[in-house]
Amino acid sequence: KKKQSLVERDRQNVWHHISPYSEKNPPMIVEEGIGSWITDHQGNRYLDGMSGLYCVNVGYGREELAQAAYEQLKKMAYVPMTQSHEPAIELAEKVNELLGGDYVIFYSNSGSDANEVAFKMARQYHQQNGETTRHKVISRYRAYHGSSMGALSATGQALRKYKYEPLSAGFLHVAPPDNYRKPEGMSIEEYNIQRARDMEETIIWEQEETIAAVIMEPLITGGGVLIPHPVYVEKVQEICKRHGVLLIIDEVICGFGRTGKAFGHQHYQVKPDLVTMAKGLTSAYLPLSITAVRKDIYDAFKDSEENSHFRHVNTFGGNPASCALALKNIEILEKENLFDRSAEVGDRLLNELAELQNLDFVGDVRGLGMIVGIEIVEDKQTKKPASKERVGKLIAACKNNGLIIGKNGDTVAGYNNILALSPPLSSTDDDIDFIIAVLKKVFNENK
Ligand code: PMP
Repeated sequence: KKKQSLVERDRQNVWHHISPYSEKNPPMIVEEGIGSWITDHQGNRYLDGMSGLYCVNVGYGREELAQAAYEQLKKMAYVPMTQSHEPAIELAEKVNELLGGDYVIFYSNSGSDANEVAFKMARQYHQQNGETTRHKVISRYRAYHGSSMGALSATGQALRKYKYEPLSAGFLHVAPPDNYRKPEGMSIEEYNIQRARDMEETIIWEQEETIAAVIMEPLITGGGVLIPHPVYVEKVQEICKRHGVLLIIDEVICGFGRTGKAFGHQHYQVKPDLVTMAKGLTSAYLPLSITAVRKDIYDAFKDSEENSHFRHVNTFGGNPASCALALKNIEILEKENLFDRSAEVGDRLLNELAELQNLDFVGDVRGLGMIVGIEIVEDKQTKKPASKERVGKLIAACKNNGLIIGKNGDTVAGYNNILALSPPLSSTDDDIDFIIAVLKKVFNENK
């Protein structure tokens, strides 16, 4: 009885993220999660093929994670990060090791926060070096970098933004490589070099001494699973260096194994100036984020005069329970070899799902590690994106068959046509068999 009323109490009291309450499709009230599977309050079970966008990388229901947080809360519940504590120190060392060294770690609470911190650090760094006009941040259309005002300003998805304007000044966007839609007659490599040159032109025309930083994900995840040719990322780094611009890599989704390596940028020959990460640190069990900063940048702030301190305080950042849980999470990822497993399973998913491209509404199947994008089109010749209804129908059919699959985040009307598959990295072979079987069945039944 109590459970019956949950739906009604939810409808009365909870304002859900993005979608308003819908009578036809009420939000799922989730009760339990084990491994890759979640159970709603009516006992229906689903494989959570979308959880990778929230970075539940080690899967649900890991007792060791709960235990790590519990032990820490009993011992010492709270330390402000104007002080320090052992889990924060140990985690900083561990993350630095995964990044290949040379970074210091700044803690905050969310991915949005970590990006805000990165923008503020970049601006202040240039100030500290006497380059007082460098304040602009360049990001890409279709990218998502968070919901707070600065992070939203960097976000390149119009639907998420236009009702909240004016946003922060000084945020510019350039087009990312979208290899499926590259111009004909150009190789993917040439096209990616062209897109990097477009970014350089923006820097030049804006006057390089006004540009503080470029921010980008190793691949655009939520905005359509757009995977660049490596030459693009490498050229962008080269361009940033040439023009004195800092490169911030947003690893909020890609970090901690999603793409088959510890960090997504490790697929390329780059060493970012700043790296932001969040939910993957704790597999989303508790809030925590990090802005990792190269030591040579940190040096500009170190032992500085009071008026050059970095002023960004947040109460919960680096809290002991989150740090202790993050350490255990990374231990599990390493012990269970989940970075390599992600690469292997990702290859298998791509191989098996490639046949979907024979269907006349599947334009492209692409992926890197355990994030796969399936682009649904109305017409393969024109590549016209499929309608929202068409895409919604596939998602609903997957759900009816026990598989939750995501759609790429809001972009602009008409470009919400990419399904994103990202199950936990700990998914078993049976889980992966199940995903492949459901997708093949649903796609063939919904031609
Ligand atoms: N950057 C990227 C790439 C993200 O996907 C997200 C969240 N989905 C964020 C930043 C913002 O993270 P948070 O929701 O923790 O603020």
